[in-house]
Amino acid sequence: MNYLKKLTVIIASLATASSLYAHSHDPFEKVQITSINVNNGIHMLMGQGGNIGLSVGEDGIFMIDDQFAPLSKKIKTSISKISKKPIKFLINTHWHFDHTGGNENFAKDGIVIVSHDNVRKRMSKDNFIKAFNKKIPAAKKVALPMVTFNDSISFFLNNEEIEIIHQSNAHTDGDSVVFFKTSNVIHTGDIYFNGFYPFIDSSSKGSIDGVIKSVNYILTRVDDKTKIIPGHGKLSNKNELINYRDTLVILRDRMKSLVKEGKTVEEVVALKPNADLDKTWGKGFLNPEKFLRILYDVVKSNN
Ligand SMILES: [Zn+2]
Repeated sequence: MNYLKKLTVIIASLATASSLYAHSHDPFEKVQITSINVNNGIHMLMGQGGNIGLSVGEDGIFMIDDQFAPLSKKIKTSISKISKKPIKFLINTHWHFDHTGGNENFAKDGIVIVSHDNVRKRMSKDNFIKAFNKKIPAAKKVALPMVTFNDSISFFLNNEEIEIIHQSNAHTDGDSVVFFKTSNVIHTGDIYFNGFYPFIDSSSKGSIDGVIKSVNYILTRVDDKTKIIPGHGKLSNKNELINYRDTLVILRDRMKSLVKEGKTVEEVVALKPNADLDKTWGKGFLNPEKFLRILYDVVKSNN
């Protein structure tokens, strides 16, 4: 009796443990990949992590970013529903693991991965993101970009001219923005978080001035018809990007003056200096307090 009771308890706790295990180890199980036909053979895929961009046509598939490794299979299935052509190139807009996590799974298919020099450099070693107190081990060799560039690189396929331009010290020190010149579509990488407070990675030499500079540059290359794929958030346009830029300028100026006054991060948090903006921008990836702490650190480390 006692033995049986004990056994039942053990089995029950094992079942709980294994279901907890399964639950905690597959946070991607329920993620679905959705796609939007943006314009003229350009598609945007959303799942979890950075938005994926695709140019699809007679020459094959050109892909931007690849989210997390456990999603690679679903992403490949989703792409195969759009085109049966092979993926030829995969661009990493920057090194963060929610944009490069699938690299190994795509490289193994023979796809050439391309990035700015600093993306390969950062992925080749262990990294630490101070804002989230997170260590990220070096990527396997197979997951590293095979081709890197310094300032810019161009691709010509699917009757499209694709220009990729490095943006120095913005979200990180290795950001690229992708311009589909023929189709008037832009993939901004994490220079642009559409509709919520952005993350800027000071541990990877990111800066708020760099993000604003980059957004201003992108704005010189858009018109009223340009479709903008942000790093995170919904498909966007010129007016929304202008609004984002204007908000970033306000946020930066407020934080710069608080830092100049010698306020500590706790004092800044207590002041709630962005209470007027929090309702609109503070419901996304970063809540108002977390964003303030990150921005404080970014502004301080740039001074
Ligand atoms: Zn990022």
